[in-house]
Amino acid sequence: MTAAQAKPRTVPVVLNVDDYAPGRYTRTTILRQAGFTVLEAGSGEEALSLLTHRPDVVLLDVNLPDIDGRQVCKRIRENPDTAGTLVLHLTASNLLPTDQVAGLESGADAYLTEPIAPEVLVATVKALLRMRRAEENLRRSNESLRSLTDMLSHELREPLRQVSVFAELLHERLKDKADAEEEMFLGNVLAGGRRLNALIEAVLSYSRSIYDVTPMSDVSAQEALDASVNELELLIAESGARIICEQPLPEVYADKLSLARVFSNLISNSIKYRGTDPPEIRVSAVPEDQFVRFCFADNGIGIDPKYRALIFDVFKRLHGAEYPGTGIGLSLCRRILESMGGSIWVESEAGKGASFYFTVPRFREAASTGRSAYKWT
Ligand code: ADP
Repeated sequence: MTAAQAKPRTVPVVLNVDDYAPGRYTRTTILRQAGFTVLEAGSGEEALSLLTHRPDVVLLDVNLPDIDGRQVCKRIRENPDTAGTLVLHLTASNLLPTDQVAGLESGADAYLTEPIAPEVLVATVKALLRMRRAEENLRRSNESLRSLTDMLSHELREPLRQVSVFAELLHERLKDKADAEEEMFLGNVLAGGRRLNALIEAVLSYSRSIYDVTPMSDVSAQEALDASVNELELLIAESGARIICEQPLPEVYADKLSLARVFSNLISNSIKYRGTDPPEIRVSAVPEDQFVRFCFADNGIGIDPKYRALIFDVFKRLHGAEYPGTGIGLSLCRRILESMGGSIWVESEAGKGASFYFTVPRFREAASTGRSAYKWT
């Protein structure tokens, strides 16, 4: 934990960077009157050296005499200690939309052009601080949730292991001696243990998908599919399933392991929710704007359209014990895809198979654009 995190500030600190002294002075006065603590710098170098004071917001003039404001912003972002600092670019001369885009792409959180009314300056700084506070609250509740799920899963695992092991021993010992009812009781204990274990593992893998963020890169979706088919080899062979992929899948910008996880979840669901015919899963991919749209279409029992949103929620299942499961698989797929900037949806009718569509960025820029909303067609 850094010193700045250890002691929350009551008064936010603004670093006001401008080589034009009268302009800088005016802004400092406005901000101090609004209740902020203000530090001042007249150059890029001076601004970088003042970052040790951990300002909450940097007001950064774009035209500085030594280092260009956009470069200063990049350096703020590159340093892990300062990467989270809010940067507001201000300029009286770089007024073109292209200048604004360059400023924002250098990592700035906002871009204002002169003349800036005092109340707009203050309101913008406050809005940025609100945004940061909301992020910070979210990060904290995520951390608590993580500790809670970790603790719960670890604390539950051991007693559950004991129950399962001793029930198994009892089962062994009572073999041939237990009557039908006793056999059924023990069978229920063992099945309950297995189910609870599956749920704990599912919750853990869901929470890991939230916290263990793996970097994305250019990867071959075909290799991800091959890996998942390999992993499911036994299930595929036992069920007589056919995975039909007529064109090699393209390259995408993704985390390969997570993508393979999505593929595995969809394939194993298509096998689990199969109809009377042997399962057939048709896999295809088409480029669509900055994304690749995948389709995994099966010939299984299908889904009533009224449930097409619900099935992506955690723990939501449309079936009981006749189909084993935890209700986490599709919500995990959604989490993974949304965190990569894509989305997932289903088209289906009961009894007519299900087609799962999802988008994955084709390249890095598409991933940062993000498209977290569902796309219903
Ligand atoms: P689980 O399979 O463990 O129940 P999922 O989150 O993977 O959980 O799926 C949620 C629900 O969506 C399932 O309970 C099932 O009713 C339905 N479902 C998922 N995939 C399919 C499919 N390929 N065909 C029909 N129904 C499906």
